Amino acid sequence: MTKKPKIDNKAFKKRLMAMRKEVEELSEATEEARQPVQLDQSMVGRLSRMDALQNQAMQLETERRRTMEIKRIDSALQRLEEGEFGYCVSCGVDIESKRLENNPTTPTCFDCAQLSEK
Ligand SMILES: [Zn+2]
Repeated sequence: MTKKPKIDNKAFKKRLMAMRKEVEELSEATEEARQPVQLDQSMVGRLSRMDALQNQAMQLETERRRTMEIKRIDSALQRLEEGEFGYCVSCGVDIESKRLENNPTTPTCFDCAQLSEK
């Protein structure tokens, strides 16, 4: 009887929770930077208003990516709960273990990821 190498669900869950916490903490720590830019120049110190606006836009973009990351983490956690973790959501094959190790939130196998990028 051949058995595929068992995925250590517990370890992955722990890792995913830690990832989630990290993203959330970063998000909280930078909340102020995403506030609307103050007209009062003294509020932005030596930064010009233009710099402040650019900085805010960058922060918002980073935050948008964080929100997406949390979504990816949550759906990976959900797949863990449902026993679907480690299988490609697109074609159902086992996701390469190296790939999962690199990024536990990855929902697809290498081939499907390549396809969706085209
Ligand atoms: Zn696939």
